[in-house]
Amino acid sequence: MNAPLAIPTLGPLRDARGRSKRKLRVSLTDRCNLQCLYCMPEHPKWLPREQILRRDELVRLVRLFVTELGVREIRLTGGEPLLRRDVVDIVAELHALRGLGLERIAMTSNAARLAPVAADLRRAGLDDINISIDSITPARFRELTNGDIAPVQAGIVAARAAGLTVKLNSVAIRGYNDDELLPLLRWAYTQDLPLRFIEFMPLDGRGFWNREKVIEQAEILAMARQAFTVTPLPRTAEPADYVLLDGRFRLGIIPTISNPFCSSCDRVRLSATGELYACLFSAAGRDLKTPLREGADDQALASAIRQHIWHKEAGYAERSGYVERPITMHRLGG
Ligand code: SAM
Ligand code: SF4
Repeated sequence: MNAPLAIPTLGPLRDARGRSKRKLRVSLTDRCNLQCLYCMPEHPKWLPREQILRRDELVRLVRLFVTELGVREIRLTGGEPLLRRDVVDIVAELHALRGLGLERIAMTSNAARLAPVAADLRRAGLDDINISIDSITPARFRELTNGDIAPVQAGIVAARAAGLTVKLNSVAIRGYNDDELLPLLRWAYTQDLPLRFIEFMPLDGRGFWNREKVIEQAEILAMARQAFTVTPLPRTAEPADYVLLDGRFRLGIIPTISNPFCSSCDRVRLSATGELYACLFSAAGRDLKTPLREGADDQALASAIRQHIWHKEAGYAERSGYVERPITMHRLGG
């Protein structure tokens, strides 16, 4: 099918490669209470607060994505989204958009500060939370994140008790946690906590990514076969490929490097400073904060969004290697 020549002015957000956008990831802050080796620069410089979108600005943009552009799912991320003091209010205000088409509100968090707010977040309207945990051994967890594992585990318990759907995310890096992957998987299995391994992406703030450090999907599956029977499940619109372990446990692998899912990508990203990124690997975003603060109306903002997304690149599938750009993962929102 040939792509239409003109940028659509109505209907769901689409790019010229025929991909519709149903999901928006919103970074609430560039700040973080951990310092994961694979994400944060060694000496992070936090952005001035006035550059970060205020709650009213953020909710206005999300409302536009939902009502005018067909977005159905929001994922709050960061930095660490729980460092926003108004995070529960943000969720509550987004919850009010459900009548307008929003179907799901999710969060990705390191969970270190989750336990005290898990029930409030659920009551405010949060549906599910992906929690990052790259090792189940306290000493190794600290080496990787510069933080304690105990509050993270408490956060997981609190999230489940509050009725949130919980999934675990773990970045697999050769030489850093390869020997931890099977223990983590066994632990998740016994806890019945769905787990997804993420291939290490060339977006780290320290520039230490290289191809050899990527533990590929095939290798992770071979590791899982050492302990479980592995049955592949059909691919869905999700970025993860899933398998069933011993006929009951869902293990996901996000094979961004070895088997990119770019051709079916249905997500776009809003940075903490209000820049719209069409792709996680985009070299630059489109500034929405300036027109927003200068009084642009919804129509002008929607048109700027449509134009930017229309020109979305093919993605990682058509490039490779390290991504050199001023914005790193913790600012853009992973
Ligand atoms: N602070 C939250 C957390 O850690 O879950 C949310 C932000 S974090 C940037 C979002 C996700 O990106 C996490 O699951 C993290 O593991 C992942 N991530 C960060 N840097 C990565 C990298 N270089 N390669 C693959 N995944 C990465
Ligand atoms: Fe913080 Fe998440 Fe990045 Fe770790 S991955 S440094 S928790 S933003």
